[in-house]
Amino acid sequence: AKSAGGNRFELADPEADARAITRHGLTTSLPAALERGEFFIEYQPLVHLGDGTVHGAEALVRWCHPQHGVLGPDRFIPLAEHTGLIVPLGRWVLQEAVRQARFWQQRHADGGPLRINVNLSPAQLHHPGLVADTVAVLERSGLEPGALCLEVTESALIGADEDLLKPLRQLSEMGVDIALDDFGTGYSNLANLRRLPVNVLKLDRSFTQGMQRSPADPVDLKIVEGIVSLAHSLELAVTVEGVETGAQAVQLRELGCDTAQGWYYARPGPPEKLHALSLADAV
Ligand code: C2E
Ligand code: CA
Ligand code: CA
Ligand code: CA
Repeated sequence: AKSAGGNRFELADPEADARAITRHGLTTSLPAALERGEFFIEYQPLVHLGDGTVHGAEALVRWCHPQHGVLGPDRFIPLAEHTGLIVPLGRWVLQEAVRQARFWQQRHADGGPLRINVNLSPAQLHHPGLVADTVAVLERSGLEPGALCLEVTESALIGADEDLLKPLRQLSEMGVDIALDDFGTGYSNLANLRRLPVNVLKLDRSFTQGMQRSPADPVDLKIVEGIVSLAHSLELAVTVEGVETGAQAVQLRELGCDTAQGWYYARPGPPEKLHALSLADAV
């Protein structure tokens, strides 16, 4: 292979090179993008499966890039995670989402407190300022800690030691909800759940997708049923992701899931969209 010479690496896969160049460009422009305000947040409602009312919303960050247009988080969160920029970016998302939730609450006093879910990446979990930053953001906005839910992926907590769990435990003791995101994709021992300061399970989209087939695979249904009953026995609420059809919603409700999120209810969108939705519920 060596004999192919130096060119080999340039010619081997031009698309991979282009992707690497883009990745490099995106990585180096992240800090300036944050300063210039190129990030924005879309919100996707979480709905009570029982009565279809809005429970809260998840904040999902996007980057409005001057050359590439709107980029989804899968394009830049891993880069931000790698360089550490996720810490200030995540802090910005938290601050912005909490401010928005407080605004919704004040606008719809009758509609009940609207809750806000914010994703935390592993680097944020490891950052020593997490608890202080979160407390400061909540205090500045006036949002009660119980209206905030921080989502941590199952994979970020696999094998987590007490040092890593301590900040989550502190936040949980303050009343902040902690959700285990993408549940079912990792390999966490179900018994391990008891050890984690978590009070919500977010069942990964892959489970919901398994139900798309009709008739749904009875084994898939049994698995979901088992997870839900275990979660409830541990006093965890269960949210399901990726609900795309009414039939899935009905089935997941029958299986005992508490809340749901997905295109069937609403795609992620600007805050005004959710505003109208929760207003409709309040009447
Ligand atoms: P996630 O936390 O699992 O978020 C759910 C993803 O599923 C979102 O993708 C959402 O748009 C998508 N989704 C919602 N409903 C449906 C549906 O019915 N069908 C299908 N096929 N997809 C649905 P999105 O917005 O592209 O976000 C991708 C991931 O990026 C998120 O996955 C989360 O891990 C990460 N992310 C997003 N915002 C942030 C953030 O502010 N901070 C961090 N650290 N990560 C974030
Ligand atoms: Ca999430
Ligand atoms: Ca998820
Ligand atoms: Ca995911």
